[in-house]
Amino acid sequence: MSFPTATIDASALRHNLAAVRRFAPASKVLAVIKANAYGHGIVPVAHALDSADAFGVARIGEGLALRAGGITRPIVLLEGVFSNDELQQAAAANFELVVHSLAQVEQLEQAGAAHRFDVWLKLNTGMNRLGVTPAEFDEVRRRLQTCAAVGRIRLMTHLFGAEEAGGVGTRQQIGDFLAMTAGMSLDRSVANSAGLIAWPEARTEWVRPGLMLYGISPIPGQSADQLGLRPAMTLTTQLIAVRRVTRGEGVGYNAIWRAPKDSLIGIAAIGYGDGYARNVRSGAPVLVNSHPATVAGRVSMDMTAIDVTDVPDAKIGDSVVLWGEGVPADRVASYADTIAYELVCGIAQRVTRVWR
Ligand SMILES: *Cc1c(COP(=O)(O)O)cnc(C)c1O
Repeated sequence: MSFPTATIDASALRHNLAAVRRFAPASKVLAVIKANAYGHGIVPVAHALDSADAFGVARIGEGLALRAGGITRPIVLLEGVFSNDELQQAAAANFELVVHSLAQVEQLEQAGAAHRFDVWLKLNTGMNRLGVTPAEFDEVRRRLQTCAAVGRIRLMTHLFGAEEAGGVGTRQQIGDFLAMTAGMSLDRSVANSAGLIAWPEARTEWVRPGLMLYGISPIPGQSADQLGLRPAMTLTTQLIAVRRVTRGEGVGYNAIWRAPKDSLIGIAAIGYGDGYARNVRSGAPVLVNSHPATVAGRVSMDMTAIDVTDVPDAKIGDSVVLWGEGVPADRVASYADTIAYELVCGIAQRVTRVWR
């Protein structure tokens, strides 16, 4: 088998969708599979998650790839569309549209009655990225209700810090949204992964999990294991060299790692050219032949040095797990000044994806 390899476990994806439903049993699930399903492969992930109630993508091209791949479930364009050309394509593919700006309302008003779009009106409750303002909300909703190009209307907002324990801003966002939308008998959607885990009041008619579907914890201090999630992607490679270094010798570019004692170094065939981020620091966890070991020195483009001194009988050809089963991606992210989202999204084209 070629390496590096990202092995994707369809049963883990389904297991994690079931975990979402345990957290939010009364909610429908809009499974978020933008950015190539967080690097896992958008079409096969959608097939594995075919019991989700709908799929969410960021760009129209992602939605079209799903339709071309045989996905017939509802697909929501989470940013809506940005031209009449895209609006026509969205009609032909029967996409649902997030409407987050007055410009998009006007576009629908000018579209005529040839197609009725189900829309998700997005309200800005403090993220200040997308969404109509609370002041615009009533007027926009009335305009959509009388628009010939609009079918069913749902309401949504997005939380900016649901993973922060006791976040005052999150409580305020949820409270404001629920108050502004109370009594409208329209479906509402608030929660991303962290929101649906940590904020019971955010489990409205629809939840919108992304990260947790891939078996990664969205909550600092709570492991995927504790949350009942299984990693869907395991990134592996092999050792292609093993060498001894004596105490004080440097390893890798700029010799930023120096052997604290006579050590054994394994060279793993993976680097930032594969998506194993260059800013992963020495000490980041890996598994070599199922034994814990750590990164030593700078990640290069195609290779990463591993301190295998304490791995019994480490040798060329040994398997190396960079993240996934046994090495949570969020732990690796903490050694790279980033979040697990960025790591899994960043898997390069040259990494072979294998489905299990
Ligand atoms: C990406 C995204 C989500 C999913 O967020 P996770 O933190 O990955 O669960 C939900 N809603 C919107 C609007 C998004 O853009």
